[in-house]
Amino acid sequence: MHSIRPRLINENGLRVDGRRPDELRPIKMEVGVLEKSDGSAYVEFGGTKVFAAVFGPREAHPKHLALPDRAILNCRYHMTSFSVEERKPLGMTRREIELSKVIREALETVAFLEEFPRASIDVYIEVIQADGGTRTAGLTAASLALADASIPMADLIAAVAVGKVDGQLVLDLCDLEDKYGEADMPVAMAPRFNSVVLLQLNGKFSPSEFKKGLTLAQKGIAEIYRLQQETLKKKFSASRPMEV
Ligand code: UDP
Repeated sequence: MHSIRPRLINENGLRVDGRRPDELRPIKMEVGVLEKSDGSAYVEFGGTKVFAAVFGPREAHPKHLALPDRAILNCRYHMTSFSVEERKPLGMTRREIELSKVIREALETVAFLEEFPRASIDVYIEVIQADGGTRTAGLTAASLALADASIPMADLIAAVAVGKVDGQLVLDLCDLEDKYGEADMPVAMAPRFNSVVLLQLNGKFSPSEFKKGLTLAQKGIAEIYRLQQETLKKKFSASRPMEV
């Protein structure tokens, strides 16, 4: 049987979308994009497009779930049915439930939840177009939306996946690379503390590939973090009242 696996690195060492192995996709970020929520963000990594919205802190509901010493952080990662080519079930899939959990756990490492006892903070991530790296784009957007909602945090979270395609380590995989590559490792960090808050691995890395992959992810994360800070500065300096 013939393999239909496409070639992922060409003779010039470039990837299916023309990038070098250590190159991120074009990134767009904006905060305060939705009016009904307390904080929001839109993040685009190439063809991956994600909205995040935050409500709260507000009184936890139902009340019996409220915690006496901190806020509950609820998180829902969801892919719209039109975000992917193949028909996606309308409800939450097992994958979406798992991703909601790991994203929440990553956000809990930086948010000062103890400042809001008995409250809840609700984070919604909606993937509107998926082309690989939706959990990392979602997490990047969610931390921006939390900052936009003025939730105190020790740091932002910036995230990107690294992987192995045609035997080569690459940064920020697109869907084709994710599907046909040998490994995919999403990494999220609180860069200020140089702390990894999410790391998953699908496929196989040798110990040295793992080390190199993590360094490559850190490089991408530094750039994403810089863009996040720039995006927040732009919003907050624009909304600051004029000094007289
Ligand atoms: N994908 C899809 N349908 C699904 C789940 C994923 O088409 O139900 C595609 C989508 O492009 C996604 C990619 O597969 O970005 C990789 O999915 P994965 O589970 O590795 O998560 P992600 O890389 O998006 O965080």
